[in-house]
Amino acid sequence: MIIEKLVSEPWQHELRQAIDSPKQLLALLQLSNSALAHTVVTKPCFKLRVPRGYVNRMHPGDPDDPLLRQVLPLVKENEQIQGFSTDPVGETAIVPGLLQKYQGRVLLVTTSACAIHCRYCFRQHYHYTASNPLAVLNTIRADPSITEVILSGGDPLCLKDSYLADLVQNIASISHIQRLRLHTRLPIVLPERVNNKLLAWLMGTRLQPIVVVHANHANEINEAVHNALHRLVNAGITVLNQSVLLRGVNDNATALITLSETLFKSQVLPYYLHTLDHVQGAAHFEVPIIHAKQLLEQMQLSLPGYLVPKLVREVKGMGYKKLL
Ligand code: SF4
Repeated sequence: MIIEKLVSEPWQHELRQAIDSPKQLLALLQLSNSALAHTVVTKPCFKLRVPRGYVNRMHPGDPDDPLLRQVLPLVKENEQIQGFSTDPVGETAIVPGLLQKYQGRVLLVTTSACAIHCRYCFRQHYHYTASNPLAVLNTIRADPSITEVILSGGDPLCLKDSYLADLVQNIASISHIQRLRLHTRLPIVLPERVNNKLLAWLMGTRLQPIVVVHANHANEINEAVHNALHRLVNAGITVLNQSVLLRGVNDNATALITLSETLFKSQVLPYYLHTLDHVQGAAHFEVPIIHAKQLLEQMQLSLPGYLVPKLVREVKGMGYKKLL
């Protein structure tokens, strides 16, 4: 255990090297003197965080780069817009760290940490509280209607493999749990995270593993990401993608079609295309529903059905995602 603490994995090293200064990010992209620099918040409450490997996929000198747009804190975030709140989807824990929005599934908020801070994140104002793993497991054990456990956060893959392996072993000891789902952006933003240790515990559980990654634009998927996704798929894991429809990032048919096709080259199926959750600070990413529906139609005209994600909206208190 002592050795594990001293010798960090390459992905942990990458995580520590992440950029956390808007000024530094703009300098790296040769945008320090651009008009964009005047619209940036230098010390945002929801800090900037972006791995260097992800920055390398941005185009230097392009203020409209779709990857940069996802992470750069803008002054617009400080505007108070009616209908945008700090808890847009109404998340209430049944015990600290455990959420249940839908029948048969529970979601474990395993950590508040993420490798990247997405400016549109619906949990950017979430009050993370320390959970009691025993209380969480006992609550799941006591309810035989629960068949699927989702590890979420933050990003569960920010946690060490030894911790995750123990957690999953405890979940697997509950006989009525059949499936283990991971909601993670790490394979996209920090592909080094998909290492042998991760595959070992994911493949070693009796639970059926599903990994739901989160990519919004094809430029996020470079060769390293492609290889990481392949490793997951080749290990027998079902890999799906969920995206968020974001103004200035992917709100055009070409971007969405290319994303679906690129994902499928890595054997990943597009699962959901979410409309924006109305979280305070993200209003500038909003795409009108009518435009979202037009984009979906253009995707349907151009792609086989299995490459068209479901366009959905999360509605507070509703027992399933609303299909649009
Ligand atoms: S990685 Fe996921 S949880 Fe973390 S900031 Fe981005 S959207 Fe939010």
